[in-house]
Amino acid sequence: MTLTPRTALTIAGSDSGGGAGIQADLRAFFANGVHGMVALTAVTVQNSLGVQGFSEVPVDVVTAQIKAVATDMGVDAAKTGMLATAEIIQAVAKTLDEVHIGRSTDTPFVVDPVAASMTGHALLREEALEAIRTELFPRATLITPNLDEVRLLTGVEVTDAASQRAAAEALLEFGSEWVLVKGGHLREAADCVDLLSNGSEFIALSGPRYATENTHGGGDTLASAITSSLAKGADVPTAVAEGKRFIERCVAESYPLGAGVGPVSPFW
Ligand code: PLP
Repeated sequence: MTLTPRTALTIAGSDSGGGAGIQADLRAFFANGVHGMVALTAVTVQNSLGVQGFSEVPVDVVTAQIKAVATDMGVDAAKTGMLATAEIIQAVAKTLDEVHIGRSTDTPFVVDPVAASMTGHALLREEALEAIRTELFPRATLITPNLDEVRLLTGVEVTDAASQRAAAEALLEFGSEWVLVKGGHLREAADCVDLLSNGSEFIALSGPRYATENTHGGGDTLASAITSSLAKGADVPTAVAEGKRFIERCVAESYPLGAGVGPVSPFW
């Protein structure tokens, strides 16, 4: 192969169980035909039963990884996942400006505001939420919170379409260009409806809800699939629609692994 594929960078944590974090991101990049690159922020110790702990990567090593790939290989789109601390978030924000990634540049930037695992373990130190709001959201082309993250970030409890719209409006106040309020965690709903908005357009994306508990890594996989489409030049509504089709298939094919929650699947 001599043609160089588009490139995507994930700035995120490692999952020793291989289902979420950078492992999920790299799989999604690969499956969507882009060359994946990594700035590792934290090493988590986890298995299907949950996160046992984590250790963050020194801040200067996080930023050096971003600069190393951006200045040589080039980044067509980037995303963040687990960022662990306010110091890492602040340093990442400054570095993204230096290498021209983010909404005021030509390089799209997706923020998945990872705060906790599905099993309820914190993946972010508490004071870091404010840094996500003030440092990352204004630089983001798109943010992709789930309903737990929406509540933490805005205080809005999403229970129906009206409160989902109110949450989207509240989140856009923090300065991202687009927001995707993911409805997947509304378990009583028959369909899985995500709401995409830039403040003037409100696009409801509806998809089937699959009867599986094995959804570990789903959020990371969706954000990385969207980032892949953006890296290939899609506009945000197209990239989100493509990402949603991708994650639906990964959830449909998810598998049990270990005694706890299994991962969404890249095998199809
Ligand atoms: N571990 C890491 C490193 C992650 O980045 C994430 C989510 O972003 C998780 C665990 C949690 O994944 P889930 O909530 O799908 O279990």
